[in-house]
Amino acid sequence: MLRTASIKLETSVADAAALLALQAAYAAACNRLVPLVIAYRCWNRVALHNLAYTDLRAHTPLGSQMACNAVFSVCKAYKAQKQLGRIPKDESVQAVCFDRASVHFDKRTYTLKGDAVSLYTLAGRIMVRLLCGAHQRRILDGGIAKEAELICRKGQWYFNLVVESEDHQPVASGPVMGVDVGENNLAASSTGKVWGGGDLRHRRDQHLALRRRLQSNGSQSAKQLLRKISGKEQRRVKHINHETSKAIVAQAINVGARKITMEDLTHIRRRIRAGKRMRARLHRWAFRQLQTFVQYKAQAVGIAVELVDPAYTSQRCSECRALGRRIKHRFECQCGFRAHADLNASRNLARIGEGIAWPRAAVNTPDVGCVARHASP
Ligand SMILES: [Zn+2]
Repeated sequence: MLRTASIKLETSVADAAALLALQAAYAAACNRLVPLVIAYRCWNRVALHNLAYTDLRAHTPLGSQMACNAVFSVCKAYKAQKQLGRIPKDESVQAVCFDRASVHFDKRTYTLKGDAVSLYTLAGRIMVRLLCGAHQRRILDGGIAKEAELICRKGQWYFNLVVESEDHQPVASGPVMGVDVGENNLAASSTGKVWGGGDLRHRRDQHLALRRRLQSNGSQSAKQLLRKISGKEQRRVKHINHETSKAIVAQAINVGARKITMEDLTHIRRRIRAGKRMRARLHRWAFRQLQTFVQYKAQAVGIAVELVDPAYTSQRCSECRALGRRIKHRFECQCGFRAHADLNASRNLARIGEGIAWPRAAVNTPDVGCVARHASP
C-alpha cells in the first residue's frame, strides 16, 4: 500500500533560495520538453529521454539525474492528460505549462538521514530538517520511502514523500461485520455498537441552521463568514470521521472480523427522507469520507472491505426478513424483534456480506420503483 506523508521542511533563507532556483530551473526544463512532446506525440519516458536528454544537459543547469526526473514529470503530466481524455486521437496535443511545477525527487536525488533530508540543488546538496508531526512519523516508520515531490505552498516548502508499507496478511477467517453509516448516528455495527449520536448530531444541525441564515443573507461579510465556518466544519467532520473510523476498525479487530460490509453510498439518496433534503446534500461527502477512512484503516490491518447495494437493509427485519416498521430510531417487526433501526440495518449488511441471500419472495417485494418514489423528495 502506498501512502504519502506531506512533511514541512525547516529551511534557512539560503536553503529556500537554493530550492527556489532549483524549482525555476526544473520548470524551465519541463517547459523545454513540451514542444518535443507535441511534435512527436511522445510521452513515453524512455523515448522522450532519448529525444531530449542531450539537449537538456546542454541547455539547462540540471544534473543528469534531475534531467531524467524532468522527463519523468513531463511524461507523468501528459499521461494524466491522456487518462482524462484531454488528448483526442485526431487533434494536436495541447501545451501543458509547468510554471509552478513540483520538483520530482528519487533515490538518487534525496537521502533521508534521521529527521533530516539531503536534497540535490543546483549548488550541490543541502541538508534540511524534516518537521514531522505524529501522523507523518507513523507513515515514515511504517514502510519504505520511495519517490517524493518538493512543493512550495504560501512560502512554505513541503516534501511529499511516498511511502510503501507492506500489505498486511489478509485475515483469512472470522465473521463479517456490517457497518451502517446512518442518518440518526454516524455509524452502527452488527456487533451492537453505535457511534456518534446525540451531541454530534445536535452540533451539526446547529451549524446547518446558521449556514442557512447566512446563505439567505447574501451580503459580502455573510459570504466570508460562510466560507470560514465551512472550512472549520470540514476540519471538524474530518477529525470526527478519523476518530470514528479508528473505533470501527478497532471493534472489527476485537471481534476477529475478516470483512467489513458497508452500503454503497451511491444509493444513499434513496434512503434520505423528503424533509431532510438539504441535510442529505450537505453531508453526503461526510458519509463517504467516513467510509473511505474505514476502508484504508481496515486494509492496513488486513481486513477486507466490501460495499454492497443496500436495498431493503433498513426496511427488513434482520431476524425473520419480513418488512418491519421504522419509527424514528426504532425498528419493529411483527415477529417481535425490536432494535435500534441502524443496528438492524447493520445486521442485514453483515448477512449480505456473509453471502446469506434473501429468500426469493422477499427480494421481489416490494416493487423497487415504489420504494424510490416513497423515499425521494
Ligand atoms: Zn421479524
